[in-house]
Amino acid sequence: MPGLYVHIPFCRQKCGYCDFASTAELAAPDGSCRVAAYLGALEGEARAYARLAGSFDTLYVGGGTPSLLSAAQLEKFFSIINSLTGPAGKLAEATFEANPESLDEEKAGLFRRAGINRVSLGLQAAQDRLLRGLGRVAMSGDFARAYKVLRAAGFENINADLMCGLPGQSLVDFTESLDWLLAMRPEHVSLYALEVHEGTLFYKQGVKEAPEAAAEMYEAAAAALEAAGLLRYEISNFAREGRRCRHNLNYWEQGSYLGLGPAAASYLDGERRTNTGDLETYLTSVAAQGVPAAGSRETLTGRARLAEKIMLGLRKTDGVELESDIITEFSGEIDRLLAQGLIEKNGRTIKIKSSRLYLSNAVFREFV
Ligand code: SF4
Repeated sequence: MPGLYVHIPFCRQKCGYCDFASTAELAAPDGSCRVAAYLGALEGEARAYARLAGSFDTLYVGGGTPSLLSAAQLEKFFSIINSLTGPAGKLAEATFEANPESLDEEKAGLFRRAGINRVSLGLQAAQDRLLRGLGRVAMSGDFARAYKVLRAAGFENINADLMCGLPGQSLVDFTESLDWLLAMRPEHVSLYALEVHEGTLFYKQGVKEAPEAAAEMYEAAAAALEAAGLLRYEISNFAREGRRCRHNLNYWEQGSYLGLGPAAASYLDGERRTNTGDLETYLTSVAAQGVPAAGSRETLTGRARLAEKIMLGLRKTDGVELESDIITEFSGEIDRLLAQGLIEKNGRTIKIKSSRLYLSNAVFREFV
């Protein structure tokens, strides 16, 4: 069953490190509301995929900051999405990304009624000076309040995003953030090292990545999270028993998925398609032709499809099964990685050694 991803490309302000397709300009140059225009276009794009209605297993609403939508806009949004997913509550997993500053009781209740059963909440760090440095709107107190609101609304599956390798972040800061978060007992934690991408404010300011400090924090996190019962199941993701993110597992298992909205990717019938990441182009192309302009499209076959299968599979701690066509195509690369001690083999499965997960890019390079 395919997964459905829906992108909401709006944020209250742009974080210094952010290279996601999102804008803080909620009004168009003519003063009209971009969110309303976007919901209209999204409805058009959803209509183009009516043939898939009812076939989805998981939903992931990401961004941007989806929780930025007002309650009335969220009602409209869910009526659009339910035209594809069917009645609320039918999906095995339905995740909504939220930032603390735009989450309140009314919206949490609305999510529940709409069938959302998992919320991913952005924390990044527990120190307000670090959050201010990142350009985040919410401080740690806002996160704690939003987390309580979600629990009071009945959410039993909450993810928190954390970052490591931040400018001015010490190992002590990082472990403090972890302890602070773990005291709230989230079901899932995603951990990302800061990357500085071209075009971001951080890039312009000359902020540098700190890979060695990030690696140290990452290893500290893996130990502390696992001691707290959150087991690593993917390079950046840790979950309690039964709380692995099914939607993302489907990506890593090369399952099919449909992505709606700017920059959203789809993988259907062997074709990978990415929508244009430019919001204006998205709006005008959906208005003109019913579907958004493509940013890219390719059909993966043969060796390229297998290489992707290995790279996605190796992201998971369960690893990837050595099917006969993988052995035929990649036995040299696999033997080299085994000899370098980067991966290990158990029966017919290979996986990256847990002590080497932070070096996964060196492994993936073998298959590019
Ligand atoms: S809240 Fe997320 S999507 Fe929005 S600007 Fe910050 S990092 Fe980017």
